[in-house]
Amino acid sequence: MTTTHTEAATPAHFAALGLSPLLLARLAELNYQQPTPIQAQAIPSVLAGRDLIAGANTGSGKTAAFALPLLQQLHGGKSQLSAGHRSGSQSAAGNNVSALVLVPTRELAKQVADNIRSYAVHFNGAIKTVAVFGGVSVNAQMQALRGGTDILVATPGRLLDLIASHAIKLDKVAHLVLDEADRMLSLGFTKELTALLALTPKSKQTLLFSATFPEQVKALTAQLLNNPVEIQVQSADASTLVQRVFTVNKGEKTAALAHLIKANEWRQTLVFVNAKKGCEHLAYKLSKLGISAEVFHGDKAQGARSRVLAGFKAGDIAVLIATDIAARGLDIEKLPVVINIDLPRSPSDYMHRIGRSGRAGEVGLALSLIDYEDYHHFKIIEKKNKIWLEREQVEGFEVDESRIDPSYVADKPMAPPAGSGKKKAKKNLKSKSSINTDIWAGYLDSDAE
Ligand code: AMP
Repeated sequence: MTTTHTEAATPAHFAALGLSPLLLARLAELNYQQPTPIQAQAIPSVLAGRDLIAGANTGSGKTAAFALPLLQQLHGGKSQLSAGHRSGSQSAAGNNVSALVLVPTRELAKQVADNIRSYAVHFNGAIKTVAVFGGVSVNAQMQALRGGTDILVATPGRLLDLIASHAIKLDKVAHLVLDEADRMLSLGFTKELTALLALTPKSKQTLLFSATFPEQVKALTAQLLNNPVEIQVQSADASTLVQRVFTVNKGEKTAALAHLIKANEWRQTLVFVNAKKGCEHLAYKLSKLGISAEVFHGDKAQGARSRVLAGFKAGDIAVLIATDIAARGLDIEKLPVVINIDLPRSPSDYMHRIGRSGRAGEVGLALSLIDYEDYHHFKIIEKKNKIWLEREQVEGFEVDESRIDPSYVADKPMAPPAGSGKKKAKKNLKSKSSINTDIWAGYLDSDAE
């Protein structure tokens, strides 16, 4: 029978979850004082060998939720092997892999692998972790895979290439993690995923993480998971995320954005646009307005992407302009502001984007700038995600109704259904343009699809 956890009965200590002293020591060093809800719910089940399906956003602490119990299982299996018992997880041997973590992007692959290595520091090299992803030369990755690996973090395309050139085999995979499954499928990795899954043994532990559950993910779940424990982190981020939407005149988004960034002295602002060319164009226009911004998209060489990301993380770059694909999986702690200059194409992409802010208990601000051509699309985003936001205006950039193309329907926010519990109190809006993170401008319903 499927077990479902919806309550976040969060134990105050990692020690209560059954983790080993070596991992607990590392968590103390990292100053992880208590488990996040997903960690509290997932870790005991994963340690017990159960399959898992978890609805959780980036920022919920999901990496540690699967990495810690997997590390413990792999390390435990190795200790038993070296003590002469043949049980537990397979050790790295030949060109095999024991635990395979599939992720949608190269940035996420690197970050997940870095996190795993960091958690495993006190295993003194007993657990080998390798990350493979496209966009860089394959040779170093082939070299790293020599002799196999305990944990492999991979993007699907590059992994298939490495399998084709016999650098790695999947027949000894005992644990499989699909991280950001919805994004992996929406990026068009369905065929690659099917091919990879067919190469793994039937009997294995499978853990699936996804922010949303569209039909494709549901189908994958039904096919892959065996009597899984289900976890839904109920809007853990909702209490820390403020969503706002500003209407502006057509052609004034950049100027309004520059005004908001300056007036609010925002640092570490992630701005989303829909196309690579749009990134460069916006960066250029912002620079003309005295704001230096960097772009982050798939056409940038890997080295340039790493440099930009490091600068942004360090706070040297205040504004990062990115496309959805490039920004996916960026691990930036406590990202304070995320801005949609172009609206995302799909309502679930909206949830992914805003999930970049308000991470791990910090208050974050997610705002969208819309002109009349966006009005209709934004209403669809609201409807699908069950959010209803007050339309606000940026001081000095108020909408001139006479400039609205009459063929577009005048913007009116959709009324929330009776009893929907809309959280924003109008009286809290002291100034329409000032950004005050105490103002709760909306709420997030995790049931996005
Ligand atoms: P993730 O959702 O896995 O991308 O994690 C988001 C961020 O939260 C990462 O930077 C983690 O290092 C951090 N983090 C994860 N778990 C905890 C915890 N229990 N306490 C404090 N920080 C955490």
